[in-house]
Amino acid sequence: MKTDIEIAQEATMIPIKEVAASYGISEEDLELYGRYKAKLTDELWEEVKDRPDGKLVLVTAINPTPAGEGKTTTTVGLGEAFGKMEKKAIIALREPSLGPCFGIKGGAAGGGYAQVVPMEDLNLHFTGDFHAITSANNLLAALLDNHIHQGNALGIDTRQILWKRCLDMNDRALRNVVVGLGAKADGFVREDHFVITVASEIMAILCLADDMNDLKERLGRIIVAYNYAGEPVTAAQLNAVGAMAALLKEALKPNLIQTLEHTGAIVHGGPFANIAHGCNSVRATKTALKLADIVVTEAGFGADLGAEKFLDIKCRMAGLKPDAIVLVATVRALKYNGGVPKDQLKEENLEALARGIVNLEKHIENMQKYDVPVIVTLNSFITDTEAEYQFVKKFCEDRDCEFALSEVWEKGGEGGIALAEKVLYTLENKESHYKPLYPDEAGLKEKIAAVAKEIYGADGVSYAPAASKALKKIEDMGFGRLPVCMAKTQYSLSDDQTKLGRPSGFEINVRDAYVSAGAGFVVVLTGAIMTMPGLPKVPAANNIDVNNDGVITGLF
Ligand code: ADP
Ligand code: MG
Repeated sequence: MKTDIEIAQEATMIPIKEVAASYGISEEDLELYGRYKAKLTDELWEEVKDRPDGKLVLVTAINPTPAGEGKTTTTVGLGEAFGKMEKKAIIALREPSLGPCFGIKGGAAGGGYAQVVPMEDLNLHFTGDFHAITSANNLLAALLDNHIHQGNALGIDTRQILWKRCLDMNDRALRNVVVGLGAKADGFVREDHFVITVASEIMAILCLADDMNDLKERLGRIIVAYNYAGEPVTAAQLNAVGAMAALLKEALKPNLIQTLEHTGAIVHGGPFANIAHGCNSVRATKTALKLADIVVTEAGFGADLGAEKFLDIKCRMAGLKPDAIVLVATVRALKYNGGVPKDQLKEENLEALARGIVNLEKHIENMQKYDVPVIVTLNSFITDTEAEYQFVKKFCEDRDCEFALSEVWEKGGEGGIALAEKVLYTLENKESHYKPLYPDEAGLKEKIAAVAKEIYGADGVSYAPAASKALKKIEDMGFGRLPVCMAKTQYSLSDDQTKLGRPSGFEINVRDAYVSAGAGFVVVLTGAIMTMPGLPKVPAANNIDVNNDGVITGLF
């Protein structure tokens, strides 16, 4: 069997200007990065912004397991299937982070015959957006420390600095560091921290900003520290906004690439869904809605994280209304949730499937709470059996969900036609009455409780003293109306990654909270989740190589 990268390298791409032309985009509206990648200009947005919107389809999934779910694969395959059916569809995805690429998960370009290409470029540096975000983040950090060194006119309390440096790498050694060691000229000594770039507030801001003006306003609102009086100090007060915006000027423009079957894919922004809001940029989604009749987009990890944030943060803020939700499950992952060890998932096991399907059940119920029609799809693996398919199909249909098998990994767009037909049927026959889970007016603890009880299935929420104090301060500063961005493990509906299936009788433990005033949400840290991941014992990086012809191997 061929690996993802082998399939991708064998593909014949067409020039990106031809892909663009199939959506009516002229060459003047492209900024080419070589032959197969392009950024979409601001002028293009001006040209299309008054057009009616296409339909918005969100792809999400059950909780991830080591068995793999395939949301990106399904998203890409669905886009390819619409292409086969001569529907005008486009895909909107996130850009991959180097952290998982070199860690456990590998890249994020889809899989099998449902991939976006050039996959090596996308997974490695792409058009430099993450470098720009990292630079803007670290410029603010440098300006902050320099301000303190140069006399600290703003009276910044060095014990209360919130802004962290960032790097797009899994590097546990940088979680807690000391900066400013050395002589007087080397600055003030203080404890500092790194987050991974995809958890930086700049990433969230870039993804939520409408345009350059909005970007600048959001950058200005970033709270970097508190002063000795306990009042917030912002990036605007440090005079950092103009230079940060200049660094982000190109990164703000969405990127266009193609699937193996030449459907367009707008790939832009990439916050993680466990420690950030998990959705591609608003700018990309809105552009996509103007260019095509159907937009297929993906939110990260399981529906408890990515979809919840897509629905409660992104759609709420950007005024987007999803028309349908595709919930991806795999027989293997459901059996894993039913207690089958990773090396025995190949064997048919209907009892384990019945035990594990409660995870899917909870996610179906959750998505239905937002009043958006749900279609369940099984991403088929060659080891699945017919009896297992029939079991899942009946389970979904009993719960008023459309169901389709997806074989896009094996067959590309052809394997996604059954799913595409169910999506089309849903778009034409079932109305979406999207509404967020909680109102803006609810208090922060009420919002946290709503997500914890309604979505995670918790009995309640317990708060560490630091968390209660932080939430009170955030409300006192006037940020109580913001939505909450929960930082939680992706592996369980609870905040304990070992609890599989549909856990009950648990509480969500809130450890701390901080406001991302520029992004416009309050980050709530639960359980043991960390904003700087580490590498595993054998990192994926150990198997990646490049030969003298520039051909990369081992990326997956
Ligand atoms: P997600 O977006 O949910 O994280 P991806 O679509 O990126 O998942 O898929 C994760 C990995 O699983 C990829 O390497 C992909 O090739 C593999 N994969 C996905 N679907 C299948 C399938 N049906 N059969 C075999 N491997 C698959
Ligand atoms: Mg993905």
